[in-house]
Amino acid sequence: MDGLTIHATDWERKGWLGIANSELLRDVLARLRSRSAPTTFRWVKGHTGLTGNEGADNLAKAGVELAPTLLRDPPVEFLRDGAALSHITQKLAYRGVRMWCPKTAKPRAATVRMIARVIDSITHTYGVTITQRTLWNAIRHKDVSRTMRDFWWKALHDALRVGTYWEHIPGYEQRAVCQVCGMVDSLEHILLECDAPGQKTVWELTNHMLQAKGIPTPQWSFGALLGAIAAPFPRTGEDTLKTGQRRLFRIVMTESVHLLWKLRCHRVIECEGEPGKWPTAREVRGRWRAAINRRLNMDKGLVAGRLGNRGIDKQLVLSTWCGVLEDEATLPDDWTRKPGVLVGMPQVVAESGVG
Ligand SMILES: [Zn+2]
Repeated sequence: MDGLTIHATDWERKGWLGIANSELLRDVLARLRSRSAPTTFRWVKGHTGLTGNEGADNLAKAGVELAPTLLRDPPVEFLRDGAALSHITQKLAYRGVRMWCPKTAKPRAATVRMIARVIDSITHTYGVTITQRTLWNAIRHKDVSRTMRDFWWKALHDALRVGTYWEHIPGYEQRAVCQVCGMVDSLEHILLECDAPGQKTVWELTNHMLQAKGIPTPQWSFGALLGAIAAPFPRTGEDTLKTGQRRLFRIVMTESVHLLWKLRCHRVIECEGEPGKWPTAREVRGRWRAAINRRLNMDKGLVAGRLGNRGIDKQLVLSTWCGVLEDEATLPDDWTRKPGVLVGMPQVVAESGVG
């Protein structure tokens, strides 16, 4: 019953992928929707002699005996096909692709445009050309968390719930426009253009950390930010980065992009119409630091074997974070077991923060 009253809309958006008895549920749902009056449900204890309950039981038993062809077809016009990309995870979508699509299925036009844009920006910004496959594989890299992977996957498909997506949702049309700037909202706007407190702070902190690590900080473009997940630096020649530099780059860039997205979702959804509740630049700075420190602590946990069997090479962790830690000169060579190790923060940014 919960399946029909609580979960049905969500399951339908997810294309019923992985839901047991989905055929039956869809059938019942179509019949319920075709009714002109609202249908209410009430739970009653079974097999206690209640007339309605006994009657339903008998009808069900009789129905099982009927050949399927004798059952009336459900009114399928009350159901929707497929799944909404914005409501599913990458894993579910691949299951759907296997279920519904022949091998020759054409990619979505929006996806093709986005991928071309990102690959082009990568060539322009980092001086390397990567293939689509490399880009898609990058979001499955082990340094990319599951939440981050789903976010990036939607971003590369241009399927995030942002901007024009809301124009088609009755009652939420106002979300299509950035509340701060009055422009049509988009991931690009959120990451690079928005005047909401946070955007400038995040990139100042990011650039500062990358510079401390000897990593180039180009003029960020939207495509270059999304492409950063592939850490696409030349593998030979003078511009080659060391493994630790690449790894820090991937961690910091993905955390920064994702933090700006989370901040925007918080503003739009939780603080709707209440600008007084928006996080200030100072709070954004704190959240950025917390996000990076969480990754640092995860690495320490991996070295110590605390996080199950996903071990990690201690040298890789040391080389990832060397150069960006607070009071690094006072730390032992191997600080991975020392409590209280944090990433360093620039003082200048603290004073120039706005908001
Ligand atoms: Zn804005």
